Amino acid sequence: MKNTFMPQFKNLEQLHHHQLEGLKWSVNHVYNGSKFYKTQFDKAGVKPSDIKSLNDISKLAFTTGKDLKEGYPLPLLSVPEKDVVRIHASSGTTGKRKILSYTQKDLDVWFDMFARCYEMAGLTKDDRVQIAVGYGVWTAGMGFQLGCERLGAMAIPVGPGNIDMQCQFLVDLQSTVFCCTASMALLMAEEVNKRGIKDKINLKKIILGSERCSTAMRIKIKELLGLEDMFDITGMTELYGPGTGLDCYKHEGIHYWADKYILEILDPDTLEPVKDGEIGEMVVTTLSKEAAPLIRYRTRDLTRKITKQCSCGSILPMHDKIMGRSDDMIILRGVNIYPGQIDEVLSSIDEVGSEYQLHLERKDDGKDYMTIKSEIKDGFSLNNAQNIINMIKRNVKTKIMVSCDVKICEYGQLPRVAGKSKRIFDNRD
Ligand code: ZN
Repeated sequence: MKNTFMPQFKNLEQLHHHQLEGLKWSVNHVYNGSKFYKTQFDKAGVKPSDIKSLNDISKLAFTTGKDLKEGYPLPLLSVPEKDVVRIHASSGTTGKRKILSYTQKDLDVWFDMFARCYEMAGLTKDDRVQIAVGYGVWTAGMGFQLGCERLGAMAIPVGPGNIDMQCQFLVDLQSTVFCCTASMALLMAEEVNKRGIKDKINLKKIILGSERCSTAMRIKIKELLGLEDMFDITGMTELYGPGTGLDCYKHEGIHYWADKYILEILDPDTLEPVKDGEIGEMVVTTLSKEAAPLIRYRTRDLTRKITKQCSCGSILPMHDKIMGRSDDMIILRGVNIYPGQIDEVLSSIDEVGSEYQLHLERKDDGKDYMTIKSEIKDGFSLNNAQNIINMIKRNVKTKIMVSCDVKICEYGQLPRVAGKSKRIFDNRD
C-alpha cells in the first residue's frame, strides 16, 4: 500500500479547513482543560468562540518556554492526570527541565507523523533502520524507534556511541538506514572507511536529527559511505518530539506537517507576521494535541516559509532550514540580522573559512556600524584578500540589505572554544 501516512488533502483549501477545525477544537480543549490557558485567554480577553477563521489565531496570547518551566512538573496539562500515559523531557542544561506529557492519542499522532517522515524519505517495510540516537527520557530514541515500528520497518535500537556494535550491526544485519546526529554520521563514515568494511555494508540512507549539518559535511559523509541520500528530520520536545517535518528527496525545503500544527513566522521583536519569505521566529499551535497542547508557542527558532510548492508534488508546505535562535537577533539600522544569515553568506564563498565574528559599534555620527571579521579558509592565501572582502560586502548588501566592513585574517587567528563560540560583539550602548 502506498502513501499510508500522508494526508489525503487534495488542495490547500481542504488543508486550511482541517486546520481551522483543529484550531477550534484546541482552543476549546485548553480553555476547559487547563487553568494556565484559561487565565491566558481571560487576560487577552478572548473566548474560544471568538476563533472563527485561521486569521483569528492572532487574537491568542503567546506561550513561552518560561511558561513551561513555571508549570513544572506537568506544564500546560489540559487533561486529567490519569489520562497521561507517558512523559518526556527536554535536555535542558540549566535549571528545571521542560517536561511534556502525552496521552495515548498524542503518542499515536506522534508516531504517525514520524512514520510519515520515513515514508517521505522513501523507506518501506523492507528497510532495516539502525537507530543511533539517545534513548530514555528524551524524545529522540522513542520517536525514531516507534515511528519505525509504525511504518513496519525493522528497528535496530543501538543508541548513541558504541562504534564497535554500530559497525558490527551494519555488517551483520545489513542495515539500510542509519539515524543519528551529523557529527555521529561523520564519525561513522570515517570509521567504516578506517575499518575497511565499506564493501560489506548495505547502507543507503542517513536520517539526521537535531544538529545542523553544513553542505560540505553532508557531501563528505555521502561520499565516504556511498549513500543514495541524506535527510533532515525536524522537531522539538515541546511539539511531540522529532518527526514533525522532513526535507524530501528534492531537498527544496523542509516539509512540515501542517495538518498537525499551524506554523506562523513572526518578527521576534514586534511579534507581527513577517512578509512571505522573510526570516522570523517559528511560532507553533497544535491542532490535536491533548495532554500538553501548544497555543502560539514561541520556539525561538528562526526560519522562513518557502512559498512555492515542492516539485515532488506534495502539497505539504515547506520552511527553510533553521537559521539560528531569535535570542541571537541583532537590529542594525532597523534591519533584523541573524548570525545564520551571515553564516550563509560566508559559506557561499569558497575562500572563506567557517570562523567569523560580528562587531557592532555606534560611531560619533550616531549611526551603527557592523564589521565582519572572518578567517580565510585553510590552504588559501591572503593575496586575494581585497577581492574576497568586496565579495562579502556585496553579498551581505544584496542578501541581508545592510552595508558592513569586512576584515579578513589568516586561518586559525580567531579563537576556538570547545563549546559555543562567541560570535557577536555588540559594543553599542
Ligand atoms: Zn518535496
